[in-house]
Amino acid sequence: MTENLNPFAIAQKQLDKAAEVMNLDKQALAILREPRRTLIVNIPVRMRNGKTQTFTGFRVQYNDARGPAKGGIRFHPEETLDTVKALSAWMTWKCSLADIPFGGGKGGVICDPKKMNDSELEALSRAYIRAIGQFIGPDKDVPAPDVSTTPQTMAWMMDEYANIVGHNEFGVITGKPVELWGSEGRKDSTAMGGMYVMREAAKMQKINLKKATIAVQGFGNAGMYAYTLSKSMFGSKVVAISDSKGGVYDPDGLDLKKLEEAKQKTGTVMNYKSKNAEKITNEKLLELDVDILIPSAIENQVRADNADKVKAKLLLELANGPVTPEADSILHENGVFDLPDFLVNSGGVIGSYFEWAQNQSKIYWKTPEFYARLDEIITKSFKDTMDLRKSYFEKKQKITPRTAAYIIAVDRVAKAMKARGWY
Ligand code: GLU
Repeated sequence: MTENLNPFAIAQKQLDKAAEVMNLDKQALAILREPRRTLIVNIPVRMRNGKTQTFTGFRVQYNDARGPAKGGIRFHPEETLDTVKALSAWMTWKCSLADIPFGGGKGGVICDPKKMNDSELEALSRAYIRAIGQFIGPDKDVPAPDVSTTPQTMAWMMDEYANIVGHNEFGVITGKPVELWGSEGRKDSTAMGGMYVMREAAKMQKINLKKATIAVQGFGNAGMYAYTLSKSMFGSKVVAISDSKGGVYDPDGLDLKKLEEAKQKTGTVMNYKSKNAEKITNEKLLELDVDILIPSAIENQVRADNADKVKAKLLLELANGPVTPEADSILHENGVFDLPDFLVNSGGVIGSYFEWAQNQSKIYWKTPEFYARLDEIITKSFKDTMDLRKSYFEKKQKITPRTAAYIIAVDRVAKAMKARGWY
């Protein structure tokens, strides 16, 4: 039987599993299996050739029992409503596990940003915000960057929202440039959070990070910083990295300058040159004999058909949804310590929370405070997850880190819904 790779079916399956283990109230589960609000918009945009092209966009508010919906906006040619629904569910668990005052949401537009110029991207970003403008707000739903959206995209969107409401509302969107009251530290906070988790997990698994070899899938905001920070913070050796076209493997370790050069000149890190470097595919990168594997690109990378080939001891899910439920079980059986996305990559939204809190209070922090608070929150999430898992082990129930993290996150949302009288 082939595996169901629909991300929303996967999100529901993961939730069902946790609900069963924790014996979640059936009424609460029924609420949590579906998003609270789903908006589909069709957005006409005048393109550079003078013709109007219509794009379809989504914004899903999965759950807001604990606070405004929160989550990024993706620009992706293969975006689907089900992907956005899944990602909005994962945002709900992410914010809850981190114990920050947000629910979960997500947005997406079906478009190919690689084929669009800056003015088209600006026009699309503004038109999307006009289309969902009534739906968002600093206390309602707070978007942020995700796949193929950047601080610049957030700046245009923030500006358009200010046009709609007639005044500046910096807290309507996070991941803004620092000039527009974005937060120092937010840019690399997803990867930085992942590094704090890596530090804790390595201690637990007795991996010496100074000697560890690492493969990173993805060269976007998450992957690029995961690569630079693993080197600068721990002195680890990153031997492989990739982008959507393919990757490069060098047993001697990779050099940032040369990677950027290859990316800039040829459009892909694949063409990195050094004595021992060889081109590898994205699939092969996942199978490398390394200590730590960090998928930092997109969903469904480690599946039932390749999970057996993963040789890493520690797998850090810095992307959203890179490991399918069947792969999860296989990794677990094979003794791979796989830490779930909504823990590992929560540094992004924790950083967004700091930015939003600063925007709302108009009191701005210094960068060291940003990182210290991020470390505190994400390290606590890791420890909470491990402690809960241990308590199940003691009851002779072997649950994965993902299920443990789900139980914590779902329990908090369920309790909030209960207190509000939703069930
Ligand atoms: N897009 C990031 C995520 O998936 C950040 C979301 C946010 O900051 O709201 O976690």
